[in-house]
Amino acid sequence: MKAGDAVSSIHILDQATVNQIAAGEVVERPASVVKELVENAIDAGARSIRIDITSSVKEILSIRIIDDGSGMSAADALLAFTPHATSKITRIEDLHRIRTLGFRGEALASIAAVSRVTLKTRLRDAGEVTGTRVIVEGGEIQETGTTGLPEGTNVLVEDLFFNTPARKKFQKSKNTETAHIHAILEGICLTHPEISFRLFTNQNEQLVTDRSPRILDTIARIYGSDVVKDLIPLKMSLPFMKISGYLSRPSLTRKDPTRIMIAINKRYVSSPIIMGAVKAGYGTLLPKDRFPVAFLSLDIDTEMVDVNVHPSKKLVRLSREQEIAGAMSEAVKTALLGQNLIPDGTAPSKIHLEESCRDAGTVPDMSYDFTAPAPHGISEALHPNTAMTDRQLRQTELQTGMVPVDAKLPAMEVIGQLGGIYILAATDAGELVLIDQHAVHERILYEQVIARTEGDHRSQELIVPCILHRTLQETAILRDLLPALAQEGFILEEFGRDTFLVRAIPVVLGKLEDTTMIDEMVSDLVSEEQIRSVNTRERITRTIACRGAIKAGTVCTREQCQRLIQQIRFAKNPFTCPHGRPTMLRFSRTDLDTMFKRT
Ligand code: ADP
Ligand code: MG
Repeated sequence: MKAGDAVSSIHILDQATVNQIAAGEVVERPASVVKELVENAIDAGARSIRIDITSSVKEILSIRIIDDGSGMSAADALLAFTPHATSKITRIEDLHRIRTLGFRGEALASIAAVSRVTLKTRLRDAGEVTGTRVIVEGGEIQETGTTGLPEGTNVLVEDLFFNTPARKKFQKSKNTETAHIHAILEGICLTHPEISFRLFTNQNEQLVTDRSPRILDTIARIYGSDVVKDLIPLKMSLPFMKISGYLSRPSLTRKDPTRIMIAINKRYVSSPIIMGAVKAGYGTLLPKDRFPVAFLSLDIDTEMVDVNVHPSKKLVRLSREQEIAGAMSEAVKTALLGQNLIPDGTAPSKIHLEESCRDAGTVPDMSYDFTAPAPHGISEALHPNTAMTDRQLRQTELQTGMVPVDAKLPAMEVIGQLGGIYILAATDAGELVLIDQHAVHERILYEQVIARTEGDHRSQELIVPCILHRTLQETAILRDLLPALAQEGFILEEFGRDTFLVRAIPVVLGKLEDTTMIDEMVSDLVSEEQIRSVNTRERITRTIACRGAIKAGTVCTREQCQRLIQQIRFAKNPFTCPHGRPTMLRFSRTDLDTMFKRT
């Protein structure tokens, strides 16, 4: 058989089919249409953009975007529907310095391939009285002509996916699609506070932002001024990157990371790496399963950002990704540490916690504990635990004897102690601060254990080794933990079946009064083995901090309370315990006056 005889089974697809395939990547759902058209309006220099959606009970019927941007000439209006027709780049090198949102020249062609598009446009400042109208359906030009309209562009998209039934079938309910549109628009509005956006569905106003040089105005407009109150600014400048924006105080959290909104070079993107870095910057300020709110704008050298990763351009590839993420975490950390983060005691708590601190201290009932009415309401009579508390406090007193300089908290005067749990104190500014004594001491201890460098976890030998019995399952878990425990100063030895000998414990735990503490600590460790979200070292550190700290329910002397406050003032992060719970609450004079209705 001669080569030419073979029947070829491969053929080149016709242009309409090629366009539909390409459209599948750009136009996934109605929200992608909104995104692409709004981005075109932004690239055209619009100052105000209006989005009109119409829908039936079941589905979205039409999408119209009106802008007051540059507009297009009659010739460009036709060309715009050709695949790979763009005014934004001309050669391959341009891909490395992209400053516009579009550049692939695919959106209009793709949208028109799977719907009916009516484009009306009039060139700005061209002195023409009419504009151009083009109607394209399923990729075929149906009609061209002139029309009257203000300067700018007006694009109407109807019958989306009319010729791609499979794609149409995959569309979720109208409400889901509308939610996607909202999510994308919120991101775009926040990235472009200098543009005014208005979204209407079936003529009802949904989302409106005004032109403003301040992103804070846009945040307030979209999420309300309550959210703004809980934000702190962030600004950082590096040779290759500038970061600016706002972060939530730890009192404002969410169950998912969807409100960590990131813009890179004025493009609203989805970047799991950067979102992760933001969360990491909070460290123990947040419970592990809660996420902050953040609005951050990154200005990165365009050479380092590859936006040509996916047709939707929602993902970007960053070179020196680790470096960028590291800088992000550092910036978040610095911004938070520079702030007074004591939550306002009058605000309803927005903190949710699942991970609990196993502080099993004897919790007396919450009656006022001012037994002996000393001037400041503190019982100075020695409590059985006083000596123990003294030892615990000495353990965390700075060993160097040097007074640290950078106090994160104002000086406070102890007023009294409540229920052996809370310390009441007053700041010079006349604020009342309620302090959770266990949480505060736990934080101090935690930071000290962390600060010790590797190999420096000095342990102290027990005079009489303590014997632990565990179940078979716990034995297996504990056996695996032995090396990590030794790193932190716990020397345990297996001693026959399901029995361990504890020979030494970390020095920070002080002189051991009773060995049940060790038993409890090991119980914490083996049971928390189920929770794999933090690494072993972190888990051991938290356990040491929790078990070594002054327990709730311990009556402290006034002097002890004062020492504790003095120590927490210099903690790196005095505002939350290692589990992310607040360590203190603050009530200003105004807060109190309001509560007493004096104002
Ligand atoms: P891209 O945005 O990647 O260039 P599009 O298919 O989205 O590709 O648009 C093609 C071209 O049409 C753009 O490069 C631009 O010149 C023009 N265009 C599209 N929308 C508008 C608009 N709203 N105002 C002015 N010009 C527009
Ligand atoms: Mg575009």
